[in-house]
Amino acid sequence: MTARLCGAKTRAGGTCKRVALTGTNRCQFHGGKSPQVQAAIRRRSEEAHCRTLLERLGEPEPVGHPVEELLGIASEAKAWSGVLRERLSELQSFESHDRTGAEQEKAVVSLYERSLDRTGRILHELASLDLDTRLAVSEQERARLLLNLVLRVLEASDLNLDARQILTARARVATELRSLSLQEAVV
Ligand SMILES: [Zn+2]
Repeated sequence: MTARLCGAKTRAGGTCKRVALTGTNRCQFHGGKSPQVQAAIRRRSEEAHCRTLLERLGEPEPVGHPVEELLGIASEAKAWSGVLRERLSELQSFESHDRTGAEQEKAVVSLYERSLDRTGRILHELASLDLDTRLAVSEQERARLLLNLVLRVLEASDLNLDARQILTARARVATELRSLSLQEAVV
């Protein structure tokens, strides 16, 4: 593998022939060591690390109903905010603050604020989901409740239905519900 050259324009009119720093396309004199470039390198390496973790997890879980998924993300975001808030009050409870402590606190404050923003955005999205989606959910929920109720009745011992009759009745109920275009609820 040949090392990548910096290639930045030089004052003499040529291009820089120094080797670019690992993970960048610039040498140390042409921005390869700048905080933004270094931060980007850390971000990329973290991303690569997390992608490996993702691959190790294997088959992803199927995505559920959007509302339920959003609720899941919302509670995760809320938990994260809670952790950061506690960390913040822990840091603020120290009597004296040295420089490191102050910077640590600043970092947590910024993480905390960002987490609040994120939670707020998710909640806003949840709240503004169109009415159709919400109605569809409650309709499915009703159909599921209805189906469970009917099945409980069918399986009640005093009806004395045998297994085959229960199966037939169950299939029949499913067909009826489907004809009400609630098929998603009964599959
Ligand atoms: Zn250079």
